[in-house]
Amino acid sequence: METAEVDVLVAGGGAAGLVAALAAADAGASVLLVERDSRLAGTTAMSTGLIPAAGTPEQEALGIVDTPDLLARDILAKSGGRTDTTIVGRLARESAATVAWLQRHHVPLSLVTGFTYPGHSVMRMMGTPNRTGSELVAALARAVERANVAIVTRARLAEVEAGADGRVTAAILERPDGAHELVGCGALVLAMGGFASAADLVARYLPEMAGAALHSHPGCRGDWLPLAERLAAALADMDSYQGHGGLAAGHAVPILWPSMTEGGVQVNRDGLRFHDESRGYSEAAAAVNAQPGRVAWSIWDGRIQAVLDQFDDTRDAIAAGAIVSAESVAELARRTGLPEAALAATLTEVERLTRSGAPCPFGRRFASRPVLAPPFHAARVTGALFHTQGGMVVDAEARVLRRDGRPLPNLFAAGGTARGLSGPGASGYIAGNGLLAATGLGRLAGVAAARLAGQQTR
Ligand SMILES: Cc1cc2nc3c(=O)[nH]c(=O)nc-3n(C[C@H](O)[C@H](O)[C@H](O)COP(=O)(O)OP(=O)(O)OC[C@H]3O[C@@H](n4cnc5c(N)ncnc54)[C@H](O)[C@@H]3O)c2cc1C
Repeated sequence: METAEVDVLVAGGGAAGLVAALAAADAGASVLLVERDSRLAGTTAMSTGLIPAAGTPEQEALGIVDTPDLLARDILAKSGGRTDTTIVGRLARESAATVAWLQRHHVPLSLVTGFTYPGHSVMRMMGTPNRTGSELVAALARAVERANVAIVTRARLAEVEAGADGRVTAAILERPDGAHELVGCGALVLAMGGFASAADLVARYLPEMAGAALHSHPGCRGDWLPLAERLAAALADMDSYQGHGGLAAGHAVPILWPSMTEGGVQVNRDGLRFHDESRGYSEAAAAVNAQPGRVAWSIWDGRIQAVLDQFDDTRDAIAAGAIVSAESVAELARRTGLPEAALAATLTEVERLTRSGAPCPFGRRFASRPVLAPPFHAARVTGALFHTQGGMVVDAEARVLRRDGRPLPNLFAAGGTARGLSGPGASGYIAGNGLLAATGLGRLAGVAAARLAGQQTR
């Protein structure tokens, strides 16, 4: 078995791992990042790449008043407070500084304008020029290389060696040919994403999404769960996940949720609405999957299309032929195959609610947006599992806690491997929770891991 020795070993090459590696290298540690795939990508590269940050100069320039307190309140309101309020507060307080630090490392993040995501009080999402996670990963990978982080791909963290006190001394990496390598480390950061791509774990922890469309990174298989068990690490919110009620059926492209929050609606195969689309895309997944055929049609108009046009995902959806357009309700019915009379009645009712300001039977109010008007656009969608939010319980330095509440000596977790910010189930997920936890906990983990490794070598 080949051996090596580093201050900080980071497992996983998505946002959490790349940010942790960058932060640890910035703090002067020797860092090795290992990734099971042949390239750096993860769920992060599939994502829209939007990171919430409160109190940024970009917001100030537009006169947007935002504070970490407000961001924390928004996150906690969506989860009903059923999450770790200390971690939420810490990450909210760090959010603007983390984004500024990434910008100093030439990660091109700008404020997304034109709409606010459901549950966010103000515009605060920072994204790359084309609003894609692949641009985010590419920029982070360049920053990590500049910081002299060693990167080894096709290397899966398979096992760790640890003392009786839980101190990790080395990790065992497994190569695709079955060969093993031992890497000694002063600290280990687990940033291996969640477990959405392990069907057995999904069936066990998220039974409502078993069999749903999966739009997640294949490498996220919960390889950290046996390690957590061995080291008696505490786990929480294992039934928590980010779903999406608007994955274009058969095309694997998300129809982004401003299509709904800006005034669009979803109807089932009978042309009938079935839920409050404005509550959030995550819980919408199960609502769509409860409809006949596990599908719905998302319907929006030209005004909303202009908002969607800033996203690469929209260009992908158009290129894939996932969006149909129509100049009238009759044409929309023809192009979607929806029953015309029912569709017309639904849209007439939405228009009445928009003008009257009254809530619909599901509790949604349409009054703040203009009446939907031709041209109409629509996509046939299904409810998908994007990523899981349950994981290892960490403290405010991203140190993994044991079941008895004490921190493990030198083990850290970030992103999808750590307990997320959303509380149990799907409805606590507010847009940005994924990458706030990945970048925020990743940076805290990298800094603390480097400090710890430095103390050990002195
Ligand atoms: C379509 C879509 C859109 C999204 N949009 C947003 C958004 O705009 N904003 C937001 O906040 N969130 C968004 N999310 C969620 C977000 O993508 C995730 O929360 C985030 O990417 C998680 O980052 P991560 O680094 O923890 O995991 P990942 O990016 O999944 O990286 C984990 C990495 O670990 C590797 N790995 C796994 N096991 C091992 C092992 N044993 N050894 C070595 N490597 C291993 C994996 O191969 C993977 O590369 C979106 C998700 C999807 C699917």
